[in-house]
Amino acid sequence: MSCSYLWLKDDFRISNNQALQALIDDENKRKCAIYIYNRDSYLPREAQQWWLAKSLEIFKKKLENLNISLDVIHGIETKIFKKLINSKPFNRIYWNKSCDINENIIEENVKKILNESNIIFKEFKANLLNPVEKIKKDDGTPFKVFTHYWKKAEQIYLKNNHNYNEKIYKNYNKNSKKDVNIQSIYPKKNWYKKFEKYWEPSEENAKKILNDFIKNSIEKYAINRDIPSIEGTSKLSPYLKFGQISVHQIMQKCLEIKNKKIGYRKYINEIGWREFSHSLLHNFSTMQSNNLRKDFDNFKWNKNEKLLIKWKKGLTGYPIVDAGMRELYETGWMHNRVRMIVASFLVKHLRIHWLEGEKYFRDTLLDFNLANNVAGWQWVAGTGADAAPYFRIFNPILQGEKFDAKGYYIKKWCPELKNIPDNFLHKPWEMPKELQNKINVIIGKNYPFPIVNHEEARNSALKAFKELRR
Ligand SMILES: Cc1cc2nc3c(=O)[nH]c(=O)nc-3n(C[C@H](O)[C@H](O)[C@H](O)COP(=O)(O)OP(=O)(O)OC[C@H]3O[C@@H](n4cnc5c(N)ncnc54)[C@H](O)[C@@H]3O)c2cc1C
Repeated sequence: MSCSYLWLKDDFRISNNQALQALIDDENKRKCAIYIYNRDSYLPREAQQWWLAKSLEIFKKKLENLNISLDVIHGIETKIFKKLINSKPFNRIYWNKSCDINENIIEENVKKILNESNIIFKEFKANLLNPVEKIKKDDGTPFKVFTHYWKKAEQIYLKNNHNYNEKIYKNYNKNSKKDVNIQSIYPKKNWYKKFEKYWEPSEENAKKILNDFIKNSIEKYAINRDIPSIEGTSKLSPYLKFGQISVHQIMQKCLEIKNKKIGYRKYINEIGWREFSHSLLHNFSTMQSNNLRKDFDNFKWNKNEKLLIKWKKGLTGYPIVDAGMRELYETGWMHNRVRMIVASFLVKHLRIHWLEGEKYFRDTLLDFNLANNVAGWQWVAGTGADAAPYFRIFNPILQGEKFDAKGYYIKKWCPELKNIPDNFLHKPWEMPKELQNKINVIIGKNYPFPIVNHEEARNSALKAFKELRR
């Protein structure tokens, strides 16, 4: 008996999933799903191996409730498809296009193989508001400035009629056997076990978070989004990356809000930044490993493994930087304001290449996506489109004082600083010796001296930047 397939990618949801819906509506009685785990594309993405394995476990059960069996296969996509075509009769396959430009190349190669074997396939829209190739300037060239891009992209999205028909399928609790091909995706280090305290990668959870955010937090988003000690942002990013929720579902919920105030506008704009990053990567694919601004190709970056490790471990001596890096390692996520501060510290104070930071975030972020990560790093480094200029250097002391004045965030992630008085929170090295002894925060012993002096590092970065201009 012939069968129809779903090629499952980063879309672990039953509702608002066009490819899955096409499979459900397909006239073939036998319906299967396949997930191909290509280890190479998860190097280095150790944190996301946990999210992926969890998502597969949860989603496999959901698909079984719809009488769709899920096969998780390890290997290279094109090879697996060739094998599949030779071993199993199937005549139709559906998938949702990936948002990742490297995945899109794989999809094109798979299409060739399917065409050669006369297998009908249908690719549905990616988890983006607009098809990425659609938004161009009037002269047909890609946008490099966010505000211009988003003005057009948002209008086009709103003009189109999105028949948003969310079908809900009941989720019965069915016990299914452990799948060894899923179990072997979990990272080898036990590091990931901590994530279970903070996240549950299910569609239901994503919907609950979205509903709670719209009900309780979006109104104050414009202010609270910059305060890392408050849960002022939606924290939907990993769910969005793995498709437990789609950007259309988020947009729809936002559009339903009656009183659309500044919080709504700011939030929608952030969704716009996600679209913009994807548009940039689509149009300038070399920026995944090269400066978008070629004038930075001769910039004098430092190679310093020791400082890089101190940054990764959250031992720089600057509390706001250290708190951010430790939040990342503990939870697989970091607040956006702090991402900007730690990234700026790496590329400007330590003058280490943004690609090193990009790689570390790739490995440790649960929400890593190529477009946002590369665009985020190039934005901070000043090498990207519509980026913060290189000469604008975040002062980690002032940033801490402005966005974590009482030190709630710092004390949460750097508990050794919990007794520090407010006036030394962001510059603990200035504490007099007697005070250090009294509160048992001995700089150089249980909290590090700053690994670089802010003023000196700033001047040296500006000098390197000036030399580039010559
Ligand atoms: C150096 C650096 C690296 C980054 N790497 C990633 C990454 O790998 N993956 C990732 O999803 N985001 C990345 N970001 C963007 C941003 O930090 C996260 O999207 C955000 O912190 C996620 O938290 P949230 O879901 O609570 O965001 P919210 O504030 O609730 O925003 C909602 C959604 O909008 C999008 N968004 C928000 N801010 C941005 C932004 N600045 N750029 C693009 N999209 C945004 C995200 O999809 C987010 O989930 C990076 C930012 C920087 C500065």
